[in-house]
Amino acid sequence: MRTYINSIKNIIEYCITRFPCKIEVRYNEPMKEHTTFKVGGPADCWIQSGEDNFPFFCALFLNCARMEKIPVFILGGGANVVISDRGIRGVVLDTSAWKSPQKREKNRAELVFRSGTTIDDASVAALDAGLSGLEFLAGMPGTIGGAVWMNARCYGREISDVLSWTEILINDECAVGTKDAGALVQVTRPKESKKYLIKKIYTNKTTGFGYKQSPFQKMDCLIVSAAFNLKKGDKDKIAEDMEKNRQDRKNKGHYLFPCAGSVFKNNHEFGKPAGVIIDELGLKGLKKGGAQAAPFHGNIIINTGDAKAEDIRYLTDEIASKVKEKTGFIFEPEILFIGEWS
Ligand SMILES: Cc1cc2nc3c(=O)[nH]c(=O)nc-3n(C[C@H](O)[C@H](O)[C@H](O)COP(=O)(O)OP(=O)(O)OC[C@H]3O[C@@H](n4cnc5c(N)ncnc54)[C@H](O)[C@@H]3O)c2cc1C
Repeated sequence: MRTYINSIKNIIEYCITRFPCKIEVRYNEPMKEHTTFKVGGPADCWIQSGEDNFPFFCALFLNCARMEKIPVFILGGGANVVISDRGIRGVVLDTSAWKSPQKREKNRAELVFRSGTTIDDASVAALDAGLSGLEFLAGMPGTIGGAVWMNARCYGREISDVLSWTEILINDECAVGTKDAGALVQVTRPKESKKYLIKKIYTNKTTGFGYKQSPFQKMDCLIVSAAFNLKKGDKDKIAEDMEKNRQDRKNKGHYLFPCAGSVFKNNHEFGKPAGVIIDELGLKGLKKGGAQAAPFHGNIIINTGDAKAEDIRYLTDEIASKVKEKTGFIFEPEILFIGEWS
């Protein structure tokens, strides 16, 4: 274990000498501090930085870590993950401090955000600029990087409806390249990074995106930034729509307890939302340890205070299995189970 941690330390030191930047590094970091579910054991090493050199540092870091076979997990706002109680072996690259300054191309209704920008901050920036298109995201927890990776959706809109281009750090030797994601327009090769390149891709809604699906899920990549194609709009109307969405989330109890939003994906073939099916089967309120199927929302599991990741996983499996038994439907979790599970 010590040699393994030493080799992580050596890689970090080496990358910082090549790309000087202030980096926060913690060993044995409890991941419950970094997830909205407030569960998750320790990561062997956790790294975060908001400095301009961060993407270049990451390029070299990923390069070296892959060579040394050190696993790396990319974390955004931790709003869609359940991290195991045993935690994460290897390194967590936390992108949530890699935030704006957001850019606006002169005379264009396009906003560019660094991937760690919170989703809600991005929607507010669009409002401030008098640009319409991100209202549906107001109040959604997480980061822009996570939202692009997940193709997050709500209120009948999804990220791919407004995404113009993304800059990604990608392993060029990866079997899945960028061609499925859209048109490649620019490649930057960070010095000494042989494998990881920064590629700017104009995304295309018809390629690789689907319900809670993005082409990035198949790639070994870190989303660095994302640009959104918006329209000039009336600020009062934009603000009103955002407020309506925030209020709707509040009314649905989204912010009452630690959670990760919807647990299961919806599927048109079921004829109704997953939450309604769970409700009709009387599964609301089902408990395991400190985890509970929210009494106020069929498709949300909440941490009532002392939940373990294991409780959340058990309850997820239990609900899916009861639904299958009673209806034959196979529920697919939307939340991601990350880390070491027994
Ligand atoms: C109260 C509540 C309500 C929610 N409502 C909705 C909703 O209406 N619709 C919806 O779609 N989701 C919803 N969610 C889930 C969550 O907000 C979204 O999925 C969000 O997009 C997750 O972003 P994140 O930054 O937290 O990602 P994380 O949870 O940190 O990560 C999710 C995945 O994205 C990857 N990832 C994150 N950042 C990057 C990056 N920069 N580069 C590469 N990969 C990356 C991670 O590796 C991981 O695989 C809700 C969550 C909560 C807590």
